[in-house]
Amino acid sequence: MTNLADLTAHELLGLISRKEVSPVDIVNSCINRIEMYESQVKAFLNIRDAETIINSIREDEPYSAIPIAIKDNMLVKGQPATCASKILSNFIAPYNATVIKKLIQNSFNIIGKTNLDEFAMGSSTENSAFYPTRNPWDLERVPGGSSGGSAASVAIGFSIWSLGSDTGGSIRQPASFCGVVGLKPTYGTVSRYGLVAFASSLDQIGPITKDVTDCALLYSFISGYDPNDSTSLNMPPYKFSPPKGDIKGLKIGLVKELMGEGVDPSVRACMDNSIKIFEDSGAIVEEVSLPHIEYSVPTYYILATAEASSNLARFDGVRYGLRANGKTAEEMMFNTRGEGFGPEVKRRIMLGTYVLSAGYYEAFYLKALKFRNLIADDFKKAFERFDVLISPTSPILPFKLGEKISNPLEMYLSDICTIPVNLAGIPAISIPCGFINNLPVGLQIMGPTFSESKLFEVSYGFEQATSFHKKRPQIGGS
Ligand code: GLN
Repeated sequence: MTNLADLTAHELLGLISRKEVSPVDIVNSCINRIEMYESQVKAFLNIRDAETIINSIREDEPYSAIPIAIKDNMLVKGQPATCASKILSNFIAPYNATVIKKLIQNSFNIIGKTNLDEFAMGSSTENSAFYPTRNPWDLERVPGGSSGGSAASVAIGFSIWSLGSDTGGSIRQPASFCGVVGLKPTYGTVSRYGLVAFASSLDQIGPITKDVTDCALLYSFISGYDPNDSTSLNMPPYKFSPPKGDIKGLKIGLVKELMGEGVDPSVRACMDNSIKIFEDSGAIVEEVSLPHIEYSVPTYYILATAEASSNLARFDGVRYGLRANGKTAEEMMFNTRGEGFGPEVKRRIMLGTYVLSAGYYEAFYLKALKFRNLIADDFKKAFERFDVLISPTSPILPFKLGEKISNPLEMYLSDICTIPVNLAGIPAISIPCGFINNLPVGLQIMGPTFSESKLFEVSYGFEQATSFHKKRPQIGGS
């Protein structure tokens, strides 16, 4: 019999409403998974105890029976919020992030906070100050990052769904590596209030789920205007309706620049197969060129590090978390930041400070802003001809722990497919589109701003024609 932890939220909600399953059994099946495999996967930084989780179930509130995990850079009142950094290791959130408030209003059952790259900087979850998370499909490999804990948790059934944050790919790339669905929504549609800022003009919170229907459902709960976030758009929340998946006549652009040299041949094979699936379903797929996309990675690493260097200035030993010793205030701050931040965070603060410094601002920061506009314009032009664009989510398969950590540049370059989307502020979804040697491969579908409904339709259409979303990892052959 199928284990309840392997089902989707919408399947479980159906079973609950037909009284075919008890809410306690669902929650217990996730708790069992955690007891069996968390010591190997290490998806969480903090898990609420089983009794509290069970006691949060409300008979008349079905969402209380569908465990959700939250990336540890979002504030859940009274719980630790460490951002996987030593500098916040003893920090307890004093209030709820807006997304958390919305979930709690609907009785969602938050079971724990998931591991990430420190302050969401990374692509493998190896930059966590505490321990890396492992990929449930192969424990020797990374789950992607920075929301690696949230993606691994959903893949193995520790939680039915989760929230991640995406600044340059941190929802979509781990979703791809773990064989689940991840959405980076249009910038401004989900409140960032209570999300610890990395690069404020790029950060967005979004859902990580087992299938497209769950993704649309969870997005409907977290989206909508928030006066507490000055970049929140004054729009109503996304209204959920089950996608139908009709993609007949749809015009899909395959981004030429994201199918170039660095794409692993096995990923390319999955893309070829995906194109065929779309065409067999009646869509038209043509190649399209976005000429400035090749400058995305350098543009991103100037803008994101500049914003990070400013955002992370607040961690000074005075207001939050860790405080080291020092004879003067300056020495105390120096020592706090020296001890509290890991090497990747320091690297980015230094780079960001440099590109903003007098004399270099025009040469780097201003130029990067111009490139950001050129990249956004490339997308605008492409969407005049195409309904959506596609590419691999990641040009490479999930890699082994330790394989790339000593080469930051190589790690940065592997984000080439996801970063342009954040720079343009548009939405994109990653869905499973194949397996190579039992390792998942993700397909990225990008749309114009506010095209989330279309992305759900297109990806649901693809999902209906395939069964990749039904595969679950087996740890230790069990
Ligand atoms: N991997 C990218 C980085 O290291 C993106 C991270 C993210 O989206 N938070 O910055």
